[in-house]
This record gives sequence, structure tokens and C-alpha cells, in this order.
Amino acid sequence: NSAIQAGKWHQGAGMKAFYDILIVGAGHAGAQAAIALRQKKFEGSIGLVGNEKYPPYERPPLSKEYLAGDKPFERILLRPESFWPEREIDLLTGNRVSKIDPVAKKVTLTSDDEIGYGKLIWATGGSPRMLDCPGSQARNIHAVRSRADVDKIMAALPSVDKAVVVGGGYIGLEAAAVLTKLGKQVTIVESLDRVLSRVAGEPLSRFYEAEHRRQGVTIELEASVSGFETNDEGIATAVTLADGRTLAADMFVVGIGIIPETGPLVAAGAATGNGVDVDSHCRTSLDDIYAIGDCAAHSNAFADGAMIRLESVQNANDQAKVAALDIIGEEAEYDSVPWFWSNQYDLKLQTVGLSAGHDSHVVRGDPDSRSFSVIYYRDGKVVALDCVNATKDYVQGRKAVVEGLNLDKNELVDTDIPIKEVGVR
Ligand code: ADP
Repeated sequence: NSAIQAGKWHQGAGMKAFYDILIVGAGHAGAQAAIALRQKKFEGSIGLVGNEKYPPYERPPLSKEYLAGDKPFERILLRPESFWPEREIDLLTGNRVSKIDPVAKKVTLTSDDEIGYGKLIWATGGSPRMLDCPGSQARNIHAVRSRADVDKIMAALPSVDKAVVVGGGYIGLEAAAVLTKLGKQVTIVESLDRVLSRVAGEPLSRFYEAEHRRQGVTIELEASVSGFETNDEGIATAVTLADGRTLAADMFVVGIGIIPETGPLVAAGAATGNGVDVDSHCRTSLDDIYAIGDCAAHSNAFADGAMIRLESVQNANDQAKVAALDIIGEEAEYDSVPWFWSNQYDLKLQTVGLSAGHDSHVVRGDPDSRSFSVIYYRDGKVVALDCVNATKDYVQGRKAVVEGLNLDKNELVDTDIPIKEVGVR
């Protein structure tokens, strides 16, 4: 379904033995770091290593417009194909780093090639967490993380009537929405007692559960997978739940989060835990090695300074810019307000801030009207807003999150008062 084929971009042969800046990981974060360096007129050599065989592309559409067949691959490229050679950024796609030597300042690829670096930017994101249970290796159990994952799903779709989606996070819900729109009969299996529990408050979870059910999706909460039944050809035919029930399906999609890709950094001695630890300049504990994006654990001002990882385009882009500025010697610290979005059916969810740890919330507007917001507070300060088809609230609420305002709850529930005019207590 696309003119851009794997293989064409495989550039192992043309790689240099040394790059002033070697970026590992060609997703949003890695690509943006290269872009930012050139925007800042950095003139040294830049190599961008990616284990996929394509030029950098947007990942959010994979579970949305790309899966739906509404956008071809060309339209989700982060930059046109010609951009990279024009900017003298060497795309070393189809390569994986297996080892880092932080003293000799070089990396080893799985091909055994070695590349030296002046500064290394680790932007590898994560690999999709998969289920580890009987039958979980079957070919029709899919992740939704890369173009290759989604191409496999799309190729199989014509012969699929029923699909089971494991995981009720953004990925699982978005995939369920697309598969439903494509006429598939979908069941979501979520291990906790509500969907979106990691990222949103209960009113939002209940709204999305009701919406999916209205669209014909079956949702099984507090349901854990114990295994898959497979046929003679190694194809999964049903998923077995811990309570003994089996759900038959032709396709299984797993969206249960990612495991940050940090192996070579761990082996090289970098401080790691939940991802790679970085300071406010995105520097790791190893000299001349930065980490950015989904894999980078940083102290986040909007999480009370807790060391967290953020899996978002905002975080990838903003950390990339901080690392690029630090490398060229300009002052920069990562202190961006987190934001996210999710599209399901005709619902656009926009989130600003982090609601985890909130102690109260207000619902503004009527969820039945399909346009409303949930405003979260912690210690009397607004910490986040989830806005469903309510872009104005999202735009105007940002200031309350950034400044930690105590918005008057009685005024906030009055949708006649724009958020920017709500009083502060
Ligand atoms: P993603 O970005 O892949 O959507 P999240 O962590 O936001 O990741 O959401 C994953 C969801 O999957 C969570 O709601 C979590 O409770 C659920 N989950 C995790 N493990 C399992 C499992 N084994 N079976 C079913 N649901 C799971």
C-alpha cells in the first residue's frame, strides 16, 4: 500500500566510521534531535541509526488513520524522503546497536560494524510488551508499535470477523475503534477494573467504556489472559481468561505498554531504573551520552519532581530540543508541560498535565453531550485536564496547569463561563 518499501533505505554500506553526533533510534525523538541540530546550524556530521527499514515516520497514526487505511505511509513521514540527504543527516536505517563503549566512545551494531561518536543521543523508545503465556507466539497475535506491525494487521484484516484486543489503554482503545469501524466484532480484555486507568480519572474511563459499548464493542474488565488456544498451523483461535472462559477470534491485538529499550546502556553502566535516568539537560550518568523520548526517566515538575517516563510526541520533541541545545552549548532545561491526544470514533481527547495522584476532580459539561472536560486537582491546584471534543477548555486550561492555579470549582462547572475567566481561589 505504499511506494516506500523496506530495503531502499537500508544504508549500512554508506555509513561513516565516526559521527560528531550519533543518534540511536529514528523515531520522533531521534529525528527531532537531528532536525533541531541542523536548525541551530550545527555543521558537524550526524548519523541517525534506526532498526526499522523506513525513514522516520509519525507513530500516533499507526493505531488511527494508518490502520484505518485513511492515510498512506507517505503522509505519515516526519519529513519528505529528500529532507535527510539535503540536510546531510545520514539515515542508517535497518541497523541495531548492540553495545556501547563509553570510554572509547563507540557503538557496535549487530552487523559487527563499529561507529565512533563525539556525542551519543539514545532515543530508542521501547519494544511492545507482549504476553508470555501458552500460545502467545502465534502469528495472529499482533503488537501496534511499528509500521511492520500494522502492515501485518492490515494484510490479515480481509479474513477477520472477530478480534480480541488485549489492553484498554490508548493503543488498545484506538485499535478497537478502528477495527469496529471496519466492521469487525471486537472484544477488549482489560486486567484492571476500568480502561485508561494509568492515564485518566474514573469519569473519563466510564465515558469511553460506554462509548465503545454503544459502538458494539464488548469490554471485559478485571479479565486476565491465561493463554491462547492454537490450531495445527500455529494460529491462535481463542484466548483463555483466568476465570476459565474462552473468547474465540481470528485476530488478537496486544496493547499493554512498552518495555524501554535500554540494554546496551545498562551494560555500559548508565544509571537506569524505569528507563534511562537523565538530568534536566537530558544527560545520562555517562559522559557525552544523552537519552530522550519514551526511554528517558526524568524528574518531571508536573509530577511533583518524580522520576517518570513519558510516552508522548510532546516529550520526544521537547527533550530532543533540550539535548540539541545542550550539545551546541545553549542553555536549556526540560520543564515542558505534558500533553497528549487520542482519537476514537468522532471523539478527540486532549490532555494537558498529569492526573496521576489527583485528590479531587470536577466534571465540566455533560458527558452525554459528547463534549466535556474533567479537571483534576492535587493539594488545591489544577494538575491536569482531560478534554473530550472541548478544544477551547484544553487551550484555556493549560495556564491553570502550568501555574498550578486553584480554579473555583463552582464557576468551573458552569460551561457559560470560559475557563480563562474562571476565578482563582
Ligand atoms: P499502551 O500505550 O500500550 O496503551 P498503557 O500502559 O497506557 O499502554 O495501557 C495498557 C493497558 O493494558 C492498561 O490499561 C493495563 O491495565 C492493561 N494491561 C496490562 N497488562 C495486561 C494484561 N496482561 N491483560 C490485559 N490487560 C493488561
